[in-house]
Amino acid sequence: MQLLLMGPPGAGKGTQAAELVKKLNIPHISTGDMFRAAVKEGTELGKQAKAVMDAGGLVPDEITIGIVRERLAKDDCKKGFILDGFPRTVEQADALKNILENLGIKLSRVLNIHVPVSDLVERAVGRRICKKCGATYHVKFNPTREEGVCDNCGGELYQRKDDNEETMKNRLSAYESSTKPLIDYYKKAGIYTEIDGRQPIDKVTEDLLNVLSTVN
Ligand code: ADP
Ligand code: AMP
Repeated sequence: MQLLLMGPPGAGKGTQAAELVKKLNIPHISTGDMFRAAVKEGTELGKQAKAVMDAGGLVPDEITIGIVRERLAKDDCKKGFILDGFPRTVEQADALKNILENLGIKLSRVLNIHVPVSDLVERAVGRRICKKCGATYHVKFNPTREEGVCDNCGGELYQRKDDNEETMKNRLSAYESSTKPLIDYYKKAGIYTEIDGRQPIDKVTEDLLNVLSTVN
């Protein structure tokens, strides 16, 4: 299955992707994760992306499209994949279409996790991530048993630098102007489904799996 998880920043894409990976056994491809890994490693890509990410803007299309093209060409994507956080612009969506055409595959479904803007700042500011295994928590909505310690692996939790109120304003405005138009883009393509992301995490997963049970 070739899936695309859409939704504004903080909607729950990464959280749901982690659940879907367990069920579907296909790779989770998050451009945000790829950029953060590059920043951490101090690569050329990381240097190009860092300032834009810290400001809550979008990394230029040509850079982003390049890393996705490379990633989708890898062998593990042959059995399917879950794209998260890409595409974020119409140009990226057109490029994705082209990349997939060249690989002889199509998107199976676009799943948009809908959460109203009024909930998103609280979700982002309370997000905590495990340094070791990458598991995502929330201080209020999905807390760890012991504060600051990952339930899965005992790793230390950290807060993303861009998960603050100020940067979220820019991330949300980038979403509104550049990414939201993709809803119509994929509606027109006839592969779009919206899921209510305000429900508890396991209920959102259930809804996603219900939709996927109708996709071949
Ligand atoms: P995204 O990948 O879309 O930016 P995340 O999956 O990282 O979003 O989720 C953002 C924050 O919201 C995290 O702290 C996560 O634990 C929390 N979260 C995810 N889904 C829900 C939900 N259904 N209800 C409440 N909080 C949620
Ligand atoms: P995310 O982890 O999806 O919240 O992404 C974190 C940041 O990485 C975003 O705010 C952007 O700066 C950058 N980023 C991630 N994916 C993309 C993309 N598809 N296009 C442009 N920038 C991206």
